This record gives sequence, structure tokens and C-alpha cells, in this order.
Amino acid sequence: MIQRYTVCIFLSFFLLSTIAHAEENVDIEQQKITLYKQIEAITLIPWHYLAALNRYEANIAEDPAEDALIHINIPKEKWYGAAPVDEPIDEETILLFGGIGKDGDGDGIADRNNQYDILYTIANYLQQYGSTPQDIRTGLWNYYKRELTVLSIMNYARLFDTYQKIDLDETAFPIPKGYNYSYRNTWGDARGFGGRRIHEGTDIFANYGTPVRATTYGIIELKGWNKYGGWRIGIRDIYNRYHYYAHLNGFADGLEIGDIVEAGQTIGSVGASGYGPPGTSGKFPPHLHYGLYKDNGKTEWSFDPFPNLKRWERKNP
Ligand SMILES: [Zn+2]
Repeated sequence: MIQRYTVCIFLSFFLLSTIAHAEENVDIEQQKITLYKQIEAITLIPWHYLAALNRYEANIAEDPAEDALIHINIPKEKWYGAAPVDEPIDEETILLFGGIGKDGDGDGIADRNNQYDILYTIANYLQQYGSTPQDIRTGLWNYYKRELTVLSIMNYARLFDTYQKIDLDETAFPIPKGYNYSYRNTWGDARGFGGRRIHEGTDIFANYGTPVRATTYGIIELKGWNKYGGWRIGIRDIYNRYHYYAHLNGFADGLEIGDIVEAGQTIGSVGASGYGPPGTSGKFPPHLHYGLYKDNGKTEWSFDPFPNLKRWERKNP
């Protein structure tokens, strides 16, 4: 009981200090980090995991509120367990019915729509498995039961921890300035090899050996040969987007699956590899095939990268 009251006093204090910060018009990203670190102090779950989980949930939210700090949607059945209500009630009753909902701000109720209650609840859930990276992976697995979700959150956490910030929003056009290239919108065009697949991406034509850069921050999820894509690399960013670079001539030295890359970092060079067994090249003019895929927490689909490429090209440093 003593511990519980301590938690409530602590959370009430930071609730007030967060409101004070809002009045000073502190950047919303900074407010989020403050909140994560306060919850870390109580639950020992490192802030970058809470940030990563919140980032992932914002990515899969159907209609994310722009000004909200917390986007985590804990399903009713998880929050209340078998409790026969779906309105804010006290956490003792929820616990009795096997729910995970907790009272984070000390007002006596565990409110599924209160950001402090939500973040404290999820941190408290993870805490039962421990606070090492492996413990958190286990906790995430038990919560989501989905490998790509767990991998994404663990990777986002590593990015936030590495850079000690959450606004990793820099972008780059895949071809650096000063190199010749051309591209047009080829979304959905038919293609010659591999049956009746439609073209899921944009082809950027350039000379052999032209550097290819990562368009955003991210983590290398795939690297190697594929009979269609040739030498290709796949990078997932913090917005549940998977960036696919294919037909490369080769990769930048030292890049491995699991490595962090930064926007604008060279990851390989333009080639004409693919459409055959490993090493096949030259069956078409050299170009970068660039594809974008989005994961919504249930499934992953490709979307047209052309508008993003145009935007990144305009901002190309
Ligand atoms: Zn292509």
C-alpha cells in the first residue's frame, strides 16, 4: 500500500509538471520524452521502449490525434479483463477480473482514455517480465503475439536509444546530387519477368556504380540475393514503412542485417542485377528499383513511392 501511494504522489507531481511544460509551449516531442522518463523512473522500463511502443501504436492507429502524447490503444478485453463494464473503474476491481488496466495519475480510476493511465498500464504490464532487452522482447511477444510487431518495436527502441531523440524525420533522395538520373511514375505497370506481377515501385535509371542512399533513418531488415530483385536491401523506418532497394551493383562495406542506417547514408550502388540465379546482371538497363511497403499491425502492402520521391528530391541537400 505504501508503495502504491508513493506511485500516486509521484505521478501527480509529474502530471502537474507536464501541464506546466505545456503552458511554456514546450515541444510535443520533448513532452513525450519527459513522460516516458517519469514512467521509466517508476517501472524501470527504459524510456526508449515506451517511446518505441507508442510510436508503433501511432503508426497503426486509424485516426491518430495529432496533439495527443500517447497513442497506445489497449483493447477493452485486455484493459478490463472479464469485468462486466467498459467505463473507468478502480484498478482493484479490474485486477480481480484479470484486466491489466492501472491508475497512473492517482485519481482512483483506471481510465482507458487517460494517457497517464495508459502508459503506466503498458509499462506495468512489461515490468512483470523484467526490464532487460530480452525480458521486454518476451513481454512484447506476450502482448502482441506477432513477430514483425516485436521486431519493429525493438528496432525503434534501439534507434531512439542510439540518437537519444524520437524525431528521426530527416529524409534524402536515394541518388545524391551531381549524378545523372531519371525516373517517372511507373506504379502498376506490367513487367516482363516473373509472370503477371504488377510493378510495385519506382525505377530510377542511373549509371552503373551511382551511389544509392537510405531515404530515412531505419534498420536493415534484409540483405542479399533474390532472383527478381538481384542484390537488394530492405530497411524499416520508425513509421512502419519498409524501404526496398533492388538491382544493386553491390552493397556499401560493412552493412549487416540489424545495422542502423541514417537518412542520406550510402547503402550500395546502382546496378542491373537480378532476373536469374545469383550474380545474373545486365538483362535490363541499370536502375534502382525503389519500393515502399507499410505495415498496419496486421498486414503489409506496397504503396506508390513516387510522391515521396518527388518530395525528397525537392529537399535533396
Ligand atoms: Zn522496378
